[in-house]
Amino acid sequence: MKLFDSHTHIQFAAFEKDREEVIARTLKKGVGCLVVGTQKDTSQLGVELANTYDHIYAAIGLHPVHTHRSYHDPQELGGGKGFTSREEVFNTEHYTALAQNERTVAIGECGLDYFRISASAENAAHKEQQELEIKERQKDVFVQHIELAKDVSKPLMCHCRPSNKTQDAYEDLLEILTPHAADLSGIVIHFFVGSLKTAERFMQLGAYFTFGGVITFTNDYDNVIKAIPMERILIETDAPYVTPTPHRGKRNEPIYVIDVAKRMSELKQLPLKDLSTHILKNNETVFGIQLT
Ligand SMILES: [Zn+2]
Repeated sequence: MKLFDSHTHIQFAAFEKDREEVIARTLKKGVGCLVVGTQKDTSQLGVELANTYDHIYAAIGLHPVHTHRSYHDPQELGGGKGFTSREEVFNTEHYTALAQNERTVAIGECGLDYFRISASAENAAHKEQQELEIKERQKDVFVQHIELAKDVSKPLMCHCRPSNKTQDAYEDLLEILTPHAADLSGIVIHFFVGSLKTAERFMQLGAYFTFGGVITFTNDYDNVIKAIPMERILIETDAPYVTPTPHRGKRNEPIYVIDVAKRMSELKQLPLKDLSTHILKNNETVFGIQLT
């Protein structure tokens, strides 16, 4: 393999029509990927893809926005506009079976998403109370993922999105994670958007960070990326979302991780070849897989 996309969703409805072609051109370019589940169907489908193709692996879990009624994107499950999350309850039996599959190499995406909570709390009169309840539910489900990750000795793939211009969800995630960190085989913080101070606290827990297409069209994360050691960095597409430059406006897909790698090599001032070597090695270490 030449590169690895550590967080992608090629099992989503956005790839329904041409999934096999997308996978074929990804593997042909020497790009492997980790297909990340967000609820029971997308977790199941990710495991099926991982069992079908070499160099494709799965992560399984229940995304925090799917633990309560919330905004939902039809690119994920289809169903046209106006689809809302079905408030899935974490079914331990279902997720444990998927977690035990040998092609499953991480638990998630799981974590906390406070970004859209105020929009999800529909009842204005009890908004504050509703927001608190949503946060509590997200925290409970996150702890269930931590327990599962410990049971099967696989790393956590964390989604953590604070409310606007705060670090609130990171604060809560750190508080929950810290007492478990020593018992976890690894922690990955996907799509990191926090401050350097927050990054340092995660690094004390031995965490890895993924960065995606966003680094190709904003400089907001340059300083954080420069300060994080190369040994802690992974790259991703988060396809079908957040398409990197120069493909903006198109659906994202795993081969565009090459464009993320190019920008990362500039930021880390490493030749692309050396950057790729680091990326493959980091994925091998955290996910326990063989890519080289
Ligand atoms: Zn994702």
